[in-house]
Amino acid sequence: MNLVRRAVVCGSCGQSSEQIQPNSGGESGAPDLDTRPHGPVRSTISFWMQRCPHCGYCAADISAIHEQAADLIGEEEYQNQLTDLRFPAKACEFLAHALILERVGQRADAGWTSLHAAWVCDDHDGQGQALARGKALEYWRNAKLAGEDFAEPELEPALAVDLLRRMGRFEDALINCNQALDGGEEPLEPLIEHLLRFEKSLIQGRDTGTYRLCDLPAFQA
Ligand SMILES: [Zn+2]
Repeated sequence: MNLVRRAVVCGSCGQSSEQIQPNSGGESGAPDLDTRPHGPVRSTISFWMQRCPHCGYCAADISAIHEQAADLIGEEEYQNQLTDLRFPAKACEFLAHALILERVGQRADAGWTSLHAAWVCDDHDGQGQALARGKALEYWRNAKLAGEDFAEPELEPALAVDLLRRMGRFEDALINCNQALDGGEEPLEPLIEHLLRFEKSLIQGRDTGTYRLCDLPAFQA
C-alpha cells in the first residue's frame, strides 16, 4: 500500500498534525452484502478517517469543519464517544464523525459512517459491531422519518435486513425480510428478490457471517 504523509492544519482547533492517506486503487470485485468493498481499498479503512490529536476532531479531511458542528467537538457527548471502550479506537473516530453528521442534519451519511465503524469492529474480532450496526440503523430510521433516503429505495430493506442479521437479531431480521418480500405493491427487482431470499436462508440458519454479492446462488456459474 502506498502511503502519503502530509501536515494538515485542523479546521477545528487550528493546530497542525501529520495525517496519512492511502494511495491505492484497483479492481475490488463483488462487495459484501452490506456494500463493504473488496480488493485493495478494503484494507485501507483505518485511513478513511483523520483524527486531530489536539482536539479530537474526526473527519475524512480535518482541514475544514462545518460551522454548525464547530461547538460539538468540545461537548461531552462527542469527547465521550472518542474514548468509548466498547469499540476499537478507530471505530470511535467513525462514530464521533457520525455525531458531527447528525448535528449538521446528514442522518443518512451518519448511518453509513456508523456502518463503516462496524466494519472496523468486524476487523477487531467483532468488538462493538452489533452496537455500531444498531447506531447505523437508528440514524437510517431517523433519515427516513425526515424524508431522506439512505440508499436506492428498493435496496434499503435488504441493507437493513443484513445489518440485523449480522447483529444476531434474527427475529427482527426475519420480520423485515418477509415484509420486504411480501409487502410491496410493485414486484421486486429480480436481484433484490434473490438477495432477500438469500438473506432469509441465512437468517433461518442463524448465520451472522459475512457474505458477498457473488455468493448469491443465482450468481453462481
Ligand atoms: Zn484539532
